[in-house]
Amino acid sequence: MSSKIPSSPSIKPQDIFKCKKCGDCCIGYGGTYVTEENIKTIADYIGIDSKRFINEKCQMSGGRPVLAQGENGYCVFWDNACMIYPVRPLMCIKWPFIESVLRDIDNWNIMAGLCPGIRVDISDSAIIECVRQELKRY
Ligand code: SF4
Ligand code: SF4
Repeated sequence: MSSKIPSSPSIKPQDIFKCKKCGDCCIGYGGTYVTEENIKTIADYIGIDSKRFINEKCQMSGGRPVLAQGENGYCVFWDNACMIYPVRPLMCIKWPFIESVLRDIDNWNIMAGLCPGIRVDISDSAIIECVRQELKRY
């Protein structure tokens, strides 16, 4: 019999994920895409224009801009905390409540190997329902 916490309407996002602020998701080439709106918003936030933002803070991946990495391998905006937290890209906001978990629940467990904030002692059905509900916000 499984000892995982079963699905329940009372299970909230914070029951299955609590960010430990370790920055592990901000290191490595993660391909954090930025939309045109992200570019403008983040560029405004850090006080540069969009062209300079793309040149200095992005690199291209598949013809689209993604946030660049610094020499230490972290996202250029990681400095013991996200320096653009209020305007971070949607990919960063949504994590780990992402569509791929709905396509394959194994992705939750794979992500948990990278992110210490993700709990795996919750039933698959509870995680899927929670992710589905959370994604409705976006
Ligand atoms: S890896 Fe997970 S726990 Fe660490 S900062 Fe990223 S989201 Fe938070
Ligand atoms: S924008 Fe912030 S949250 Fe997103 S990868 Fe960069 S440092 Fe991490």
